[in-house]
Amino acid sequence: MRALNQSLDRMPRSGIRVIMDLAAEMDNVIHMELGEPSFQTPEHIMDAGCKAIRDGFTKYTANSGLKSLRKAVLNRLVRDGLNPDLEQIGISPGSVFALVQAVTACTNAGDEVLLSDPGWPNYYMQVVSTDRVPVIYPLKEKNNFEPKVEDLEPLVTKKTRVIVINTPSNPTGSVYSRETIQDLVAFAKKHDIYIISDEVYDKIVFDGEHVSPLLFDPDDHVISIFGMSKSYAMTGWRVGYYCAPKKIVSQMNKLLEPYVSCASAISQKAAEAALNGPQDCVDQMAKAYGQRRDLMLDILTREGFEFSRPRGAFYLLVNVAESGLESYEFAKALLREKKVAVAPGLTFGKDSDKFIRFSFCTSLDDIQEGVTRFCSFYKNRI
Ligand code: PLP
Repeated sequence: MRALNQSLDRMPRSGIRVIMDLAAEMDNVIHMELGEPSFQTPEHIMDAGCKAIRDGFTKYTANSGLKSLRKAVLNRLVRDGLNPDLEQIGISPGSVFALVQAVTACTNAGDEVLLSDPGWPNYYMQVVSTDRVPVIYPLKEKNNFEPKVEDLEPLVTKKTRVIVINTPSNPTGSVYSRETIQDLVAFAKKHDIYIISDEVYDKIVFDGEHVSPLLFDPDDHVISIFGMSKSYAMTGWRVGYYCAPKKIVSQMNKLLEPYVSCASAISQKAAEAALNGPQDCVDQMAKAYGQRRDLMLDILTREGFEFSRPRGAFYLLVNVAESGLESYEFAKALLREKKVAVAPGLTFGKDSDKFIRFSFCTSLDDIQEGVTRFCSFYKNRI
């Protein structure tokens, strides 16, 4: 057989999916590996989806999405203190594809893209599979996993085009401070590079506030990407949206046609209802995630674990280096012996092999049981 696309050979699989596939072969597993909200999509959003089908929203839409949804996005951003034009907003089938659109629009093959370690594995996969070059910057626990410009400066070359940032962060739970965001914007301006800012967890913040870099650079270097999946428990509907300078948005929209044409019209109508409707469901779910975090941290603290406290999203990194196991081995053994699925740290970067990641968007009962089983597994190893 002739050789296939070698970039895809270089692209690793997500370790989250590796563990998930193993867990799928077993019964009664406690799932703490995936960022899948345990909540059902709120009733009024589901109703809007059903109504959309009956109302004939069963066809293609414009590549950039329904104008009514883009207006709902605009209003949402205005509520959050931003002031973009409608042409700065586009709709994608999930924020994950918006990230691919952004990276493709802003770079050429061979250009360098700054990615964090730890960082969500999909960024690396996107960069490698599109023949861009990942350059890894560290997120240090002593800095609460916030990026520091002094760590970024030495990595900049003539080929650097983009830095990807993610706040609130998967997998660290870090929420970047206003100062950090301001520093990152100044860094991007200084080197004339783009910030692709993944803000899909912007409504899941427990301590502090979410600050978008769009606030400091509304129409030049920042491409902000948001999603419906996490805040509205709409992972299966596949809708995301972006806000960026018009020229970039137009290139990102252009890319939709050959790959996906547009996001599902039905899902777009549901997303519109979500953004225009009552927001208390978002707050209630975020509050519930906060309670789950607190329960998890209480158990782990009682058991003597130390960690960087997540301030947003629904993930926690725990250092398990003392077990002597590599993170994949650890995750596989925990699954086999205790039926608890967690994500191996190595999938978030080479320097993150000492961690495993818990996702705490599952129920309180599962967190209680899953973390208790983890603690007993760990104690037997050290
Ligand atoms: N960005 C981050 C950091 C994520 O964790 C995820 C999903 O887990 C996504 C983007 C993708 O979200 P969506 O369902 O909108 O594609």
